[in-house]
Amino acid sequence: MPPVGDQASYAIAAPVVTTVAVVGTDATFPVARVFCVGRNYAEHAIEMGHDPDREPPFFFMKPANAVVPTGSRLPFPTQTQDLHHEVELVVALGEGGRDIDVDKALNHVFGYAVGLDMTRRDMQAVAKKLGRPWDMAKGFDQSAPTSPIRPAADIGHPAEGAIWLRTNGEIRQQGDLGQQIWKVPETISYLSTLVELRPGDCIMTGTPKGVSGVQPGDRLEGHIDGVGDLTVEYLG
Ligand code: MN
Repeated sequence: MPPVGDQASYAIAAPVVTTVAVVGTDATFPVARVFCVGRNYAEHAIEMGHDPDREPPFFFMKPANAVVPTGSRLPFPTQTQDLHHEVELVVALGEGGRDIDVDKALNHVFGYAVGLDMTRRDMQAVAKKLGRPWDMAKGFDQSAPTSPIRPAADIGHPAEGAIWLRTNGEIRQQGDLGQQIWKVPETISYLSTLVELRPGDCIMTGTPKGVSGVQPGDRLEGHIDGVGDLTVEYLG
């Protein structure tokens, strides 16, 4: 647990809590941490039943303050010539826990959003080649645009539905939530064996095929059926 203290005890002003709008209420969702699942969509529809070849999911993180709202006009990230979009279902947790059972995992979900896992692909390629961390390729400023959250109490737990991304009106990514290799309950359960999850934690659950380059001036639109829409624009 963090040390207990009040504002008067801090040597500098306390960091601002990053929040995300919640559809249907003026209350906002405070972001604790942002976890991201690595490759989580098969290129083709997954056959029903057990897949003996699948490996456990792997995770990386972005700082909470990488989250920015829909409608943002963003400065083009520094130090990249190959910025990529990855449209993803975001799971926002309302309850934490450790060693969460798969069949109880959805009880921990507050709601869902559309997110972009923006990626400096060139920097990531260098990191992969050299065996270095991905942090600066993935966790840079404004790297996690996120739509307003729709509460599970309103929309349930979407396991299927179209997910797509358009750049300047042109379709780039297209898939279905049902193509996820690791389903949301499995992802929550497994992640909770690695860390104790906390209320406010968000999980970006991977992206379908079609990731591609973004240029200054581009307008990105992300969509997930039943979850919402997200639009951001990069300054030219
Ligand atoms: Mn991703």
